[in-house]
This record gives sequence, structure tokens and C-alpha cells, in this order.
Amino acid sequence: MTSKITPQPGIMDISLYVGGASHVDGHENVLKLSSNENLSGPSEAVMKAFSLSAHELFKYPSTDHASLRAAIAEAHSLDADRIVCGVGSDEIITFLCQSFAGPGDEVIHTEHGFSMYKISTLAAGATPVEVAERDRVVDVDAILAACNEKTKLVFIANPANPTGTMIGPADLEKLADGVPEHTILVLDGAYAEFVHGYDGGASLVESRHNVVMTRTFSKLYALGGLRIGWGYAPRAIIDVLNRVRGPFNLSGPALVAAEAAIKDVVYAERAVADNTRNRAWLAEALAEIGVPSDASCANFILARFASEAEANACDDHLKSQGILVRRVAGYKLPNCLRITIGDEAACRRVAHAVGQFKGVK
Ligand SMILES: *Cc1c(COP(=O)(O)O)cnc(C)c1O
Repeated sequence: MTSKITPQPGIMDISLYVGGASHVDGHENVLKLSSNENLSGPSEAVMKAFSLSAHELFKYPSTDHASLRAAIAEAHSLDADRIVCGVGSDEIITFLCQSFAGPGDEVIHTEHGFSMYKISTLAAGATPVEVAERDRVVDVDAILAACNEKTKLVFIANPANPTGTMIGPADLEKLADGVPEHTILVLDGAYAEFVHGYDGGASLVESRHNVVMTRTFSKLYALGGLRIGWGYAPRAIIDVLNRVRGPFNLSGPALVAAEAAIKDVVYAERAVADNTRNRAWLAEALAEIGVPSDASCANFILARFASEAEANACDDHLKSQGILVRRVAGYKLPNCLRITIGDEAACRRVAHAVGQFKGVK
């Protein structure tokens, strides 16, 4: 008997998101460098605030997130009224697609772009349009050429995942100026904190009616497990997003932890400095053994191998050593492996294992 229960169009075209693996059979001391997590863990202040929140678990959380938004606004010199908080920035991406794109509409993502853009587009019944990149860098001209009257959203991450590359202020401005007036440009700033002096696109949001920035507490602040992200947008767009947002989308513990995190400037500065130093060390160590990577602006590097077979063989070897990195063939980068930057010991361990692989080949 054929079922008369059918999902909305587009939903069955969604490929399930593949997360970074977290265990290897037979290994106790697994080093997980596959999900761009901050392995040093959240700050002491965050853990204290989170623990204390246990006493408040009987209460419904704030619906307007006023306290967290005020803290974010203060930290980044933004207007708190134009901030919206979500269950990870993934939820902000979902809200944007749900609110602004539907059947017959197009949503642009780029060749190696983050997979959630396509997933949320399909979930909204809209059509994802993939635009080529140039040598693993977002190509502004190609995006602008792909825009038409059906284009409702354009998503880019800057810095991008999984390439680690970013485009500069002149290209960003050209993109913001060039997208049609009926199109929202979404600048995903999941890794913006790792770039000194970059505002994640906040100033472009301030000066345009159709630019949105998304940010997260999952990467620099080491809070991926709590699911907290936020968006910054023109008032009219925020008003729309708040209508589709569930009233209690963020839990009390998540709200207090995120507020403690954004206020811990010392923790953030140290995490950025550690990442910058360890990333430079690892990129150079791998380059010396014949594994190049593009200059990364994020908390990972995209290691390039001669072929897909070599990348997979190296991944197999790393696994045999209890080290997990990310295969990125699904992002059209079959000859690459994405490696999260851990602490110094983690970087040494992965560099040593890649060296073993290159040596024994
Ligand atoms: C990790 C990541 C996110 C965010 O994730 P959340 O945990 O949902 O905040 C968003 N965009 C990109 C490009 C990412 O790599």
C-alpha cells in the first residue's frame, strides 16, 4: 500500500547533515579535530554561571533575551534592538530561509559553502543555486552574475568553512552594493572573532536595508554543546525573524552562559592569540612535509593532498592513531582534509602523524 502521507516538496531532497566523528574503535585517547570545537573548553566564568543556573531550572527563560542582547550590543557596539538570538546560528539561518524564501524562489550559496544553507533552503521549499568559487575563495562577480528577480537570499561565510579563506572589505562592499534590492545578503560570521579588526560585516548591516550578519558562541567561546547564536539585521528584518522565532527558543542555562562568555574579554583574547599562534605553527609544519594549505583566517586549516586517494589514506592513518579530522569531499574538496586547530600538543600530535604518513608512503 502506498502511503498518502507526504512531506512538503524539497524536504526529501535534503541530504542528512554529517557531523564530525567523535570516537575511534580501540582508542581511548581520541583527539577530535573534526568539528572546529575549541578544545580548551569554555571559560571559568561561563562554567560558574552555567552551574548556578541549575537552581533556576524550574523557571521559563526570558522570551526577549534582553539581558544577553544588551551584553552582545555592549561588547560589539551594536543596537540591542536589532539583535536576535537563536539555537545556534543554524537557527538564524533557518529563520531567514523560512521567512524570506519559498517555492519558486532561489537562494544562492557557493561551491564550497557551509551545508546548512542548502539544507535550510530546501526545507523552506525554495531552490538552492550553487555558484562557483575561484581557487577556494568566494567569487563576488560570479555571485552577482547569478542573482536574478527570483533570488531572495545570498549566503556566504566570511571567513568561510571549510576553506578558511575570506574576502576583504572592498569585495564585501561590492557584494553588498551589487545584490538586487529584493535580495538579502547574509554574512555568516561564525569565525569572525578569529580575525583581528574584522567586525563580521556589522558596519554593512548598519548602512544597508538588506544585509544580515550571523554569529555564534559555538566556535571561539567553546559553547557548541549549548547551542547559542545570534543575528544582527535591519529593524524590519528583525521584526520578521522574531515572529517565526519560538518564544522560549533559548534555555535559561544557555542565556546565562552566553552572557558570561561575551563579557569574558580576557578569555576571548587569549583564545584568539592561541589559535593564531598554533595555526601558523601547524600550517608551516604541514607545508614542510609537502602538505600545503591556503592561509586560514579561522580555527582550522584545509590541508591539501595530491589526490583524493592520498587524502583518504592520510585520514585512515590519522584514525589509526586516534586522530579525527574531517573529510570534505561532500564540500567538493575531495583531495583535502579539514583539521581543527587544537592546543600546542594537539597540533604537534597531528603534525607528527601526518609526517609518519608521508614518510611511510
Ligand atoms: C559552525 C558554523 C556555524 C554555526 O553553528 P552554530 O553552532 O549553529 O552556531 C555557522 N556557520 C558556519 C560556516 C559554521 O562553520
